[in-house]
Amino acid sequence: WRHPSIAYTRPMLIHFTLQARQLLCLLMIGLTPLISGCEETPAPTTLERVRDEGALRVVTRNSPTTYFQDINGETGFEYELSKLFAESLGVELKIEMADNLDDLFERLNQPDGVALAAAGLVESPGRKDQARFSHSYLEVTPQVVYRSGKLRPTQPKDLPGKRIMVLKGSSHAEQLTALKSELPELQFEESDAVEVVDLLRMVDEGVIDLTLVDSNELAMNQVYFPNVRVAFDFAEPTRVAWTVAARDDDSLLNEANKFLDRVIKNGTLQRLKERFYGHVDELGYVGAYTFAQHLQQRLPRYEKQFRKNAQDQGVDWRLMAALGYQESLWQPEVTSKTGVRGLMMLTQRTAQAMGVANRLDPAQSIYGGTKYFAHVKEQLPASIAEPDRTWLALAAYNVGSGHLEDARELARKEGLNPDKWLDVKKMLPRLAQKQWYSKTKYGYARGGEPVHFVNNIRRYYDILSWATQPQLEGTQLADSSLHKPAINKIPPKEELAPM
Ligand code: GLU
Repeated sequence: WRHPSIAYTRPMLIHFTLQARQLLCLLMIGLTPLISGCEETPAPTTLERVRDEGALRVVTRNSPTTYFQDINGETGFEYELSKLFAESLGVELKIEMADNLDDLFERLNQPDGVALAAAGLVESPGRKDQARFSHSYLEVTPQVVYRSGKLRPTQPKDLPGKRIMVLKGSSHAEQLTALKSELPELQFEESDAVEVVDLLRMVDEGVIDLTLVDSNELAMNQVYFPNVRVAFDFAEPTRVAWTVAARDDDSLLNEANKFLDRVIKNGTLQRLKERFYGHVDELGYVGAYTFAQHLQQRLPRYEKQFRKNAQDQGVDWRLMAALGYQESLWQPEVTSKTGVRGLMMLTQRTAQAMGVANRLDPAQSIYGGTKYFAHVKEQLPASIAEPDRTWLALAAYNVGSGHLEDARELARKEGLNPDKWLDVKKMLPRLAQKQWYSKTKYGYARGGEPVHFVNNIRRYYDILSWATQPQLEGTQLADSSLHKPAINKIPPKEELAPM
């Protein structure tokens, strides 16, 4: 008699279990949509994923326009901008470096890949299937670059017959491919083993005839390559932006757009642009390649002295080298009308105080200048923290500690922060206006000058920092390879597959 009973109870049990699970599921769905197994629950959005991980994973390129290491660690335009974005999301920034552009888009499109690409990427039709672009934060023009002294091409139909190389997978490869349909005799190579710095170096050294790069890349790198020149603008200006993977939802892209709109409006983006791209505006195009020449020809003679004295005084040698360039363009025999002399342009008084007998001797001048800078910096109030301490010390080196103190006092009175360079630099020009300087302790000073002085030095310093970054260690000026900030080895000619 037990059989019927069993036969009867088992379905009952199953029936009951099903009902109970359904009930449980109903409760759970109401409580936590993340519990799976009851019903299809939506996957987290890209923004939720970033927030859950507590990190914004960004892929970029290792180049002076995007991301690199300097003496203080990671930096670069894309790095600083994405760091601000990560901060605004309240998460950490995690940078991944792509080997080349194909690798970059692969990482972006992997299922558990990076959230964002921030790599100086131009919005182009060929990238539609791989990426969706944010609002733009930079406008650039693709430019054909040639070596000065050679015949200058002026239009696309001058390109066939030349040895041309561009980055594989770049917007420029795409543009040249399009041109090839009109000019079938056009030949060019695409390389995934090089970066833009390498392309420019190859033009500089005559290894290739031409390349096609964005104007911002050329502007940034002109200071390393004295022989590269713009041949002509290849196309209309294009927009540089961040990208998410094409299949990603809108959540992170929307946040990025909101962030970019904000930094465009509040001036943050402009400040970043000035910091990273300002040197060319400031130096001018000619100044930029003059700097490149001096970097190759003059600095190697003094690098050892800069390194040694800076180490003795506990300051950064690149900063001292930048200071020396601002003062004399690394010329040891310069004399000014006001009686300032030598590579570091010391006054007679300063030279005496530092124990320098002959200001025109570069070794003595560097010794005196470095010691004096360290002294000026040391004297600043303890409340001034780095990096402002360095910028204010440079201003004091130029205009004198008394005048700097006056400017700091003016800042205080305006409710600004006297310990911040950004605030003090607004006050310095007032030292040249009677309504202001008449009320200061030390009176009139050409207050605009230290502002230019510090701005210029910061630019030279940035350039030197890129050129001497840790990953390039071993490539010192002394072995004349520092001015070649290559980050990828350039394969010999034969290994570069022609298109
Ligand atoms: N901006 C370029 C691109 O979007 C990469 C850098 C260059 O080739 O100048 O592909």
